[in-house]
Amino acid sequence: MSHPAPKCPFCSGDVSGVNCVSCGADITAPRRACSGCGKQMLSSTKTCTQCGTLHRSENVWKIPLIVGMFIIVIILNVLFVMNS
Ligand SMILES: [Zn+2]
Ligand SMILES: [Zn+2]
Repeated sequence: MSHPAPKCPFCSGDVSGVNCVSCGADITAPRRACSGCGKQMLSSTKTCTQCGTLHRSENVWKIPLIVGMFIIVIILNVLFVMNS
């Protein structure tokens, strides 16, 4: 009894090793369900190949937040030094 061959989560094509034979996707890469059509898509892909829904990266909004916090901390440090 052999294991059933894995199928590509993106196009249901046959998989050779870790790559889909049909679309070439790495089936071990992080993926998520598209909010537009529910199909699996690569996490690193911004636009769904099935329905074209644009996905923002989950961490993109955190970058300006972290930068802003750094700037605030630096400003507070400068003010503390100037006041002391
Ligand atoms: Zn595929
Ligand atoms: Zn989609």
